[in-house]
Amino acid sequence: MTIRQLRNYIDGRFEDGASTFNKHSPVDGRLIAHVHEAGRDQVDRAVAAAHRALPAWAGLPVAARTDYLLALADGIARRFDDFLQAEIGDTGKPVGWAGKIDIPRGAANFRAFAELARTLDMESYMTDTPDGRQALNYAYRKPLGVVGVISPWNLPLLLLTWKVAPALAFGNTVIMKPSEVTPSTATLLAEVAHEAGLPAGVLNLAHGFGPASAGEFMTTHPDIDGITFTGESATGAAIMRAVAPGVKPVSFELGGKNAALVFADADFDAAVDGVTQSVFANCGQVCLCTERVYVERPIYERFVAALAARAEALRIGWPMDPATEMGPLVSREHREKVLSYFALAREEGATVVTGGGVPAFGDARDHGAYVQPTIWTGLAEDARCIKEEVFGPVCHVAPFDTEDEAIRLANDTRYGLAAAVWTQNLARGHRVAQAMKVGLAWVNCWFLRDLRTPFGGSGLSGIGREGGRHSLHFYTEPTNVCIKL
Ligand code: NAD
Repeated sequence: MTIRQLRNYIDGRFEDGASTFNKHSPVDGRLIAHVHEAGRDQVDRAVAAAHRALPAWAGLPVAARTDYLLALADGIARRFDDFLQAEIGDTGKPVGWAGKIDIPRGAANFRAFAELARTLDMESYMTDTPDGRQALNYAYRKPLGVVGVISPWNLPLLLLTWKVAPALAFGNTVIMKPSEVTPSTATLLAEVAHEAGLPAGVLNLAHGFGPASAGEFMTTHPDIDGITFTGESATGAAIMRAVAPGVKPVSFELGGKNAALVFADADFDAAVDGVTQSVFANCGQVCLCTERVYVERPIYERFVAALAARAEALRIGWPMDPATEMGPLVSREHREKVLSYFALAREEGATVVTGGGVPAFGDARDHGAYVQPTIWTGLAEDARCIKEEVFGPVCHVAPFDTEDEAIRLANDTRYGLAAAVWTQNLARGHRVAQAMKVGLAWVNCWFLRDLRTPFGGSGLSGIGREGGRHSLHFYTEPTNVCIKL
């Protein structure tokens, strides 16, 4: 098996890095790629190239710019298998998930923002003037400038393109830094951009880590005009400190500790299905995954038993097997973190209903990063395992007696990303969803997204919203022109 070389893409050329680091498979631990880490001078050159490319890119007719975006979407579709293999290789996620979600959404992000960029309108007012005449005021939006995109490892292509696509669509140029844990599909995206003839400097790729590496070189760079970041809340805080001296706009999509509320009047089977999906999808490594489940007392015992049965029946296996429902975690390092929470939960007095350990396969997968789907009960509400994001296939289930109590429990967190409410009472569905202190509340579903709607969270879960016109607001600066008539 060849070890892939993943290079940086700067000013329209692929470049070796100042050094390289190794990328290992989360499935069986073997070495799969050498990643070329960008040096500070390479980030500097990428930023300079992005500035040189900016006026022409921002000045393109919208139709020409969006044609490039559609070419990027077509490029992802054309090289679907390359993207799929690369994403699965980096993350170990099952082909059923990566092939249906990650890669198609990577292309869909470019199509959605190309469409939006074509249909923008402007704001204008006729204003009375003190001397009895009138002025025409209009506001037009110009690109923010050179945007730094820093993305995480859990949905690598999907979350990278979720930011690269609107940034490009609205006339910005971009330096992208994917997670060091999942560098492959970003490299393919740069190849697709190259193949599509995207002008040099419009989209640049710098591989590396956060501190003292490409991430920090970007966030402290005086000539980057804004940073859009998805990742952990603590990293968001560090980036905020780094960006502060330059007083630059930031958009942060951060962690979550999301709740699902299951009322006794819910469609029981649909709720069990939905909660199973929301806890264990992508091995629990979606920022929107449920980690706290609150169930109305009359159905609590039955629900815990049904959820445990579903967790135990999940097919854990090789990612390329279409029957596999759960693959490994993204890395051995992340598994150490998840296992430390498994140990902590026991110390904090949890009852482990199912899971809590590592599966044994007796083959190469024992060198990978697999863990068992896990369910806890019995933790106190102030336990660290209830308060902190684990980001693995695990949830805690607790009973509630009243709607008010359910709302209070769900909102008792410093995060504010997502919640799911399961009930057949329409009024309650609206009422409880609106009472959730989150950016995104689902009723009787999970993970359904319309790319035009606002996405993001409050508290530790982030700053700002992206999606549809909300992305427009981050990636452009409104400018008011006033003409006295
Ligand atoms: P992370 O914060 O460790 O890393 C994310 C990115 O930031 C990586 O590219 C990393 O190299 C970079 N980085 C790290 N430190 C940096 C620094 N000091 N300066 C600049 N860049 C730095 O996050 P992760 O572990 O890759 O991703 C998992 C986290 O992301 C979870 O907390 C999850 O909830 C969150 N997440 C949030 C959303 C959302 O939309 N709200 C979506 C997906 C993931």
